[in-house]
Amino acid sequence: MDSCLGVEQDLDKALSKFRSLNDNSSKLLQNMIDQVEEVRREITKYSNDAQLSPAQTMLINDLAATVKTTTAQMSTGNYHRELHATVSRVGKSIDRHFIADYASVAPKAESFCNDVNRPIMEQAIAQHLYRQGLEDVGDAFVSEANITGVERTCTFALLQRCAAALAEGDPSAALNWAERRAHELHNSPLPFTLHRMQALKLAREQGVGAAIEYARRQFPLHAARHERALQAAVCALAWCTPGAGPAPPIYQHLLDPKALGAEAAELFIKEACGLLRLAPLSPLAGAVLAGARVLPALHDIRSKMSHPHVIAAWSDDELPFEVDLGEDGGGYHSVFACPILRQQASEQNPPMRLLCGHVISRDALNKLAMGAKLKCPYCPMEQSPAEARQIYFS
Ligand SMILES: [Zn+2]
Repeated sequence: MDSCLGVEQDLDKALSKFRSLNDNSSKLLQNMIDQVEEVRREITKYSNDAQLSPAQTMLINDLAATVKTTTAQMSTGNYHRELHATVSRVGKSIDRHFIADYASVAPKAESFCNDVNRPIMEQAIAQHLYRQGLEDVGDAFVSEANITGVERTCTFALLQRCAAALAEGDPSAALNWAERRAHELHNSPLPFTLHRMQALKLAREQGVGAAIEYARRQFPLHAARHERALQAAVCALAWCTPGAGPAPPIYQHLLDPKALGAEAAELFIKEACGLLRLAPLSPLAGAVLAGARVLPALHDIRSKMSHPHVIAAWSDDELPFEVDLGEDGGGYHSVFACPILRQQASEQNPPMRLLCGHVISRDALNKLAMGAKLKCPYCPMEQSPAEARQIYFS
């Protein structure tokens, strides 16, 4: 983060330089335009075929010379040199703040090009394009790179389109989707979030009356679960009337369609992926996210491991430590080691996901089970061992 801030400071300096040079040259240009206009007005006072007086000719010649020198200065002189210097400072700042060479820890580029990995890589790219909703680009990629067997995952593309519309402030597509799956979403905050967004949109576009009518129709269903949020949404309507003045800070995010849309889009993707059992990230996006998180730590540890014996122990397909990918990381593991028995999972002793979401090995599960009952060792949730599901890493 410090690195980003460091670069940002230098970038800000460069941008302010651009702005001041821009202001300066705009002033100079305007000044020249004014002078030219002035001379033109002077001359057109006389009839078209009248000869210019010697004084007028001199005036025009002088002006032409000034215009020429000033524009020449602007296009070649110190202007460009100064701009170039500030821009190249930003480049140097990036080099200084970030590690440029990850070659010692990153997989060799050739490993993506062999006959086994290249098709996997191409499939991942095509799948990612489809999941982003970029069907045209995906189709072009698939046909030009001659890729076979890519699933054209339209479901995700549809979700992406709904999320994009939400981010633009339009909840209608997402509401349609949520209504079709209302019975599966009754425990989810999504329907209320979408209806709230729609009510506030109506207030902006058709007036508070239309919003209240909509709220009366839709909100009662959600009143019990979202009482406070619902009260806030109704109060926020008071600031949608003409001449209401600025809203207090607690209502501001409700009245900002972009902020509300971004929040709803994020929730929509999370809930829809959960419902459809889709990973929120495509395999490619997941790998890039995991890679970006792990690289700095990996680089750090690699630079400290200088002894040849230690380097020899560095495996190509397994990370030397556990990496926390955060909440949005999607829970990718290079290996699974049972947190109870401290053993690496194997085919005979695979990882099992308990009903609460915690994962332990099958041996640990068998040891902890008391007949038809099992108490999760991490959270106190009681469940049946039969409810645990085996997890496959591929
Ligand atoms: Zn648990």
